[in-house]
Amino acid sequence: MEIEITDEPLRNWIKSYFAIDHITSAIRPFMKQLFEDKFQENVRKVKKKSNLMNIYECNSCDPDKVKPYHAMSGQCSFPRKRGRCNCAKENTIPCPAINACGMLYDIMTMEHIMEEPIWSNSNYEQLSTRACEQMKCYISCTGYRDVSNVDQMELTAFFQICTNNTILRRTLDDDDIRMLEQVKNDHREIVGSTDASADKFKKYVSNINVLLDYDTCIVDRDYFISMELKKLEDDKVKITICEEIHYIKKALYAISKAKAELQDESEGDSGDQIRLLETVESMQRRRLQQQTEVFIQELLRAGARYQPG
Ligand SMILES: [Zn+2]
Ligand SMILES: [Zn+2]
Repeated sequence: MEIEITDEPLRNWIKSYFAIDHITSAIRPFMKQLFEDKFQENVRKVKKKSNLMNIYECNSCDPDKVKPYHAMSGQCSFPRKRGRCNCAKENTIPCPAINACGMLYDIMTMEHIMEEPIWSNSNYEQLSTRACEQMKCYISCTGYRDVSNVDQMELTAFFQICTNNTILRRTLDDDDIRMLEQVKNDHREIVGSTDASADKFKKYVSNINVLLDYDTCIVDRDYFISMELKKLEDDKVKITICEEIHYIKKALYAISKAKAELQDESEGDSGDQIRLLETVESMQRRRLQQQTEVFIQELLRAGARYQPG
C-alpha cells in the first residue's frame, strides 16, 4: 500500500513542495492577523466617516455599481485609475447604509497601488463583514471568488495582497518583502516543473532558512519548521504515491492561478510563459491520471490480501 517514491528528481520535487508548504503554514498566522487588523481598521474608518452609529453590515452593494462617497464632491479622487471610476458611471446605486459602501469603495481604492482593486474576487454580500473578502480584492488576478478563507490562500496571494495594498506594504519592512518574494518565486519555479535536482531542492531549503534566520515577525516561531526542514534534508520523510498525487493536484491549482495572472499582464514574454506552463500542466494531468490508476490498483490488491478474522 505504501509505495515509497524512489525516483530522485521526482522525490526532490515533492520534498521541495513540502518545504514550501511548511513555510506557507508558518507565515499564515501572521497574514491572518494582518488581514483581520486591516479589515477592522477599514470598518472603523467607514463608520467614522459616514457617521454610522450601528454595526456596519451591508449585503446589498456591488462595488462595481455602488455610488462612491467622493462622487458628492463632483471631482474624481482617483485620476491614476486605468479603468473607469464609479463616479463616472451612470446609474450607480447609493448604499442604503448612509453611503457606507461608497466610503468603503473610496478607502479600498485609495489603498490599492494602482487604484484598481479587483472587486470580482470578492463575494460582495460579505465585503462589509469578512476580512478575507476585502483582502482578495488586492490579489493581482481574477479567479479568487471561491476562496473563502485565508487557509486556502497560497504564498503568491499573500505576497500580492501585501504589495498591492500600500498600507500593508508599509507595515512590512523591505527584507520581509524581499524574502517573501524569493520564497514566492521558488514556489512558482517548483510549480512550473515536474521534477527537481538535488541542488535545486537544497537552494529552496536554504532560501527558507535565510528567512528563518532573519529576525522577521512574519514567521510563526511556534511552528516547528526548522525541524521539519531538517527531516526533509535528511530524507527522513515518507514520500509515497499519496504525497505525489496530493502535490500534483496542488501544482495544477497553482498553475491555473499563475496562468490567470500572466493573462492579465499580457505583456513582455507572458505568452511564452503561459505556453510553458501549459506544457507542464498537460504533463501533470497525464501523470495524475496515471498515478491515480496505480493507486487504485494498489488499493484493490491490498484489499484482496486482507483476510478478515
Ligand atoms: Zn471617481
Ligand atoms: Zn451598502
